[in-house]
Amino acid sequence: MSRRVLVIDDSPFIYKAVKRSVEAAGYEVVGHAQNGQEGLQLIEQLRPDFITLDVTMPVMDGLAVAANLRPEYTARVIMLSAMGDMDLLKRAQGYGIRHFLTKPFQPEDIQRLLHDIEGSVHCG
Ligand SMILES: [Mg+2]
Repeated sequence: MSRRVLVIDDSPFIYKAVKRSVEAAGYEVVGHAQNGQEGLQLIEQLRPDFITLDVTMPVMDGLAVAANLRPEYTARVIMLSAMGDMDLLKRAQGYGIRHFLTKPFQPEDIQRLLHDIEGSVHCG
C-alpha cells in the first residue's frame, strides 16, 4: 500500500487540515516541511508516496520544488494552490505536476483525490 505522505506547507492551519484529512482516510503523515528547501531534503530522506505541496512559502516556493524533483522520486504530488491561477498551473504542469487542489478544500476533496490517484496506474 502506498500510504506515506509528506506535507510541504508553511501554514500550520493547512498542515493540520491536511493531516486530519489524510489520516482519516488511512494515510500516514511521515513528515512536515515548512518551506521548499526543507521539503526537498525530506523528499530525499523519507521518499514519501504522496506529497502535498504548497505554492507560496518562504525560502523556496512550491514551483521551485516542482522544478527540482528528480526522476527517481516516485511520489505523486498534489499541489495546493490558493486560487485558479492559470499561469501558475501551467508552469507547475510544465514541471510534471498533474494533481491540483484549490484552497480552501474539504477533507473529502483531498481524500477523493488520493483515492483517484491510487486507482490510476500511470500518474505523475
Ligand atoms: Mg503558503
